[in-house]
Amino acid sequence: MTDLSGADTERSFVIGQRAIELMKAYGSSASPHSYAVWYTYVSGQQPLLNEAVKRLTSEHGNLSDARVEGLYDTYIQGRRFVAETERASTSMLSELEQVMEMLDAALGSTARYGAELQAFSQDIAAPAVNRARLREIVASLVVTTRDVTANNRTLEARMRESRDEIRSLHETLEAVRVESLTDPLTGIGNRKHFEDVLRKTVEQATLTRGSAGLIVLDIDHFKRFNDLYGHLTGDQVLRLVALTMREMVAAACTIARFGGEEFGIVLPGATRDQARALAERIRTGVMGRELVKRSSGESLGRVTVSVGVAIHRGGDTAVSLLERADQCMFAAKHGGRNRVVDDAAEGLTEVA
Ligand code: GH3
Ligand code: MG
Ligand code: MG
Repeated sequence: MTDLSGADTERSFVIGQRAIELMKAYGSSASPHSYAVWYTYVSGQQPLLNEAVKRLTSEHGNLSDARVEGLYDTYIQGRRFVAETERASTSMLSELEQVMEMLDAALGSTARYGAELQAFSQDIAAPAVNRARLREIVASLVVTTRDVTANNRTLEARMRESRDEIRSLHETLEAVRVESLTDPLTGIGNRKHFEDVLRKTVEQATLTRGSAGLIVLDIDHFKRFNDLYGHLTGDQVLRLVALTMREMVAAACTIARFGGEEFGIVLPGATRDQARALAERIRTGVMGRELVKRSSGESLGRVTVSVGVAIHRGGDTAVSLLERADQCMFAAKHGGRNRVVDDAAEGLTEVA
């Protein structure tokens, strides 16, 4: 968000007030992300965010927390990462420019030194060279060599500094890249990461006629859980579900939280049986964990998940595969929740 000077403080309260009204009117929670989205909306600083909010609220009549998270990732967090990346890239470029200048200087001085050596060797070869002239030539050669050595030492030190600086900028860029793909609440991938990996996996499966699977998972009656025990405890459950998935999913697969309480797993190369078996293991794994409130030791029961599994088919795109996995997940909800439905199930299209 913007830095506010004293004169702007009053305006910030007006904006904040209006943001809270809109939050209530459109059914968003008062979470920090939601406040950031609505505040930015009222301030009008990001026309693209405003367009997206208008489109979503006119389509759905409200702005759910899951959609708020999507907007936050794209327009607020995304912008920060862009700014950080720009800053690091600019420093990197200026550092590289300096290295180029140094290299130019080094090349110039090497060329000059070479030319001088050439001239000396011609002088020495001349028939009329005597002892005095030879001494002069050697003395001059010593001075030039000393200069060149000193020059090289300075260059070397500056090169070393630049190398360290570039290395640290590289690390910053890498950290920003990883952070921009991570869901801060659970530490697993975010929606952007999920979409990137899904797109690449589908492209690869299409290209190689290989297999790929997608699991979509939604927590059952999570709203009720939040209402009963509070949003913060709800957040702990989201972390626990992510942890359960992490423990069960192989490193080659990508786990992400792509909506409020919706998760996805991209499984390159997986068959239907493998994807289904993993989905079942996660479902029973989540259900098997009794939730206990850390502060009071109070048991909060268990949560269950409904899971959809879709397997890549010829002609699939990332969108069609995701839609099918979503349909399966909804079919699992309709079928009574706490179950896995895959896209071989009959009557799937009627249900969805
Ligand atoms: P269903 O079994 O049909 O999925 O019911 P549900 O209540 O889980 O589904 P619904 O989509 O109606 O509600 C999703 C709820 O998830 C709304 C919100 O309270 C909760 N939620 C979404 N994002 C977050 C989050 O980041 N933290 C917490 N604690 N809750 C969240
Ligand atoms: Mg949901
Ligand atoms: Mg749910």
